[in-house]
Amino acid sequence: MIAELRQMAARRLTDSNLLPATAMALFRAQLAFAGATVWSLAEYDFDDGFYRVECPHCHIGVTVAIGIYGRYSAQRDWDRGDIHRRPLTQADPGNLDGLAAWMHTMARHLGLTPLAEGLTWLFGRAECPACASSFVIGDQYATENEPHHSSDGPIPPGGW
Ligand SMILES: [Zn+2]
Repeated sequence: MIAELRQMAARRLTDSNLLPATAMALFRAQLAFAGATVWSLAEYDFDDGFYRVECPHCHIGVTVAIGIYGRYSAQRDWDRGDIHRRPLTQADPGNLDGLAAWMHTMARHLGLTPLAEGLTWLFGRAECPACASSFVIGDQYATENEPHHSSDGPIPPGGW
């Protein structure tokens, strides 16, 4: 059953006349099949998207904006908004690897141009506004949100 669904989804990926909503659903389905739970469920809002991650070096909360309000990392302040902003560094699509490269290629094949563009920012680098160390936003986001890679403890008996 799963194999059939996977084949069906793969066939549909070659159809270039998909409605964006259908294309997006297939994109999510492919990621779910691949076991990339975080990315099958992510919002991909590149109009006014914000991602909350933790700096892997100093562990402060970092707000990453990818959208019409800018593309930056910052510290979110209750009164003053996003402060200590630093511009993001966009990834070169040719330098993406692994899942990020696959997602970018799939987005392009599906005709989801804004998504493909957004992914080069999402898998680009952010600088921590506090300690200035640089990290790949998408990798950090996945590390914090993917149940497979939880640092809270061992995988429960029986696995996922
Ligand atoms: Zn830091």
